[in-house]
Amino acid sequence: MSDQPSLLDHEDTVQLRAAWDRVLRGFESELPETAMTKFLRPLVPAGIEGRTAVFDAPGQFIAAWVRDKYVDVIEAALSEALGTSVRVEFRDQPRERPLPPAPDLEVVNRQPAIVDARPAFSPIERYRFDAFVIGQSNRLALAGAKAVASQPGTKYNPLFIYGGPGLGKTHLLHSIAHEIHRHDAQAHVVYMTGQQFAEEFIHSVQTNRVDHFRKLQRGVSVWLLDDVQFIAGKERTQEEFFHTFNWLQGFGKQIVLTSDKPPKDLLLMDERLRSRFEAGLVADVQMPDTETRCAILQSKAAQEGIPLEHEVAMFLATSVFANVRILEGLLTKVAAHASLEGEPITLALAEEIVEKYYRNVTTVKPSFDQIVETVARHLQIPASEIRGVSRKAPIAHARHVAVYVTREITGDSWKHIGALFGNRDHTSMMHGYKKIRELMNRDKDLNASVRLLMSDLFPEV
Ligand code: ADP
Ligand code: MG
Repeated sequence: MSDQPSLLDHEDTVQLRAAWDRVLRGFESELPETAMTKFLRPLVPAGIEGRTAVFDAPGQFIAAWVRDKYVDVIEAALSEALGTSVRVEFRDQPRERPLPPAPDLEVVNRQPAIVDARPAFSPIERYRFDAFVIGQSNRLALAGAKAVASQPGTKYNPLFIYGGPGLGKTHLLHSIAHEIHRHDAQAHVVYMTGQQFAEEFIHSVQTNRVDHFRKLQRGVSVWLLDDVQFIAGKERTQEEFFHTFNWLQGFGKQIVLTSDKPPKDLLLMDERLRSRFEAGLVADVQMPDTETRCAILQSKAAQEGIPLEHEVAMFLATSVFANVRILEGLLTKVAAHASLEGEPITLALAEEIVEKYYRNVTTVKPSFDQIVETVARHLQIPASEIRGVSRKAPIAHARHVAVYVTREITGDSWKHIGALFGNRDHTSMMHGYKKIRELMNRDKDLNASVRLLMSDLFPEV
């Protein structure tokens, strides 16, 4: 998604602004005045991208709070006001930036359609290297990202960053773009997600514009591809991706990819692509340890101007074992409570919030015993059977689910997981995992029940 709405979107923007005015008037009778002044009126409708209405919020804190609390009511009310179903997204814009001028429809209508260039990528302002807190969990990925940003196309090509959600992969891609633009404002940096690549390619096939699609992909100097796992299992898209990849690499253009898994575990990815991905530097981002979590909370608080004492940050970091996105939500919650009550952030308040909202995330990552017991409870198969050797279908199925959940939650190696399950062979662990993942892709009920089970173990509050 491009960061700025294009000229062609301006008519939508005018409609969006009118609809938002109506929505705000409707909310006035429903929501407390403090919420209106602190959180809702400061939002500025920026434009519509596809079926998503984008709002600018003055700062990350308000963006996160609105996302957390009001996204459903805003989506419902705005869809009604626009007469079509839309999703909403909130970007944080630094306060000092002037608001975009209201579009002038006359001028817009006289502009020729811009079709031949991908709009310049404008990375999110705060996703910069200096806002990225370094720890054991991300040291290599950060070093790799900095190296390719300072000498694109020469050192590691491709750079492949993988890890679970909320651990900074997208942040690093944007940081690379900032850094490259700092050295060379003209550098043609393209950022897209695997999903976008797939959708745009399919669209170009349907509209007979594959050549045009290729031209757009290939005329770049740096290619940042986020969440590449999305193209796995999509044959034609992967084929196209493979050619683009080779083309760019052949001309020494820097490629940076992110994914939720390392190349070797992208089981539905074409083998040729997997080996290409492995050819450069492969680096992971992991769950941050307690000290890094504390440093992240303090750095976010400083950025947002939220006074947070070290003692309180440390308490939060030791109480909540979670990814950075969740930590940001935690800080937002604590700060919002303090702000609404007009009180400072005290240890007592932090304790109250952790107890109220984060009780289930307060331990370190779930143990293997907890995982097996939770699977046993959900699937109604005794834990001892799951740990045992029976090959009866329901038992083997529950065991595979336990393998899947263990891998997803702990990220342990296959060998280690095999050992946990009583010294089983690592290939059978991999097979079990793959089987459940494929089943989940096809079977919505299984997908929902496994996710539910995982949220019991590792709730994302
Ligand atoms: P991912 O792409 O891995 O799902 P994101 O890059 O979207 O994760 O990160 C989620 C949030 O966490 C973002 O707001 C990002 O700025 C923040 N974040 C992640 N890692 C760090 C870090 N090491 N230091 C500071 N902020 C981080
Ligand atoms: Mg991401």
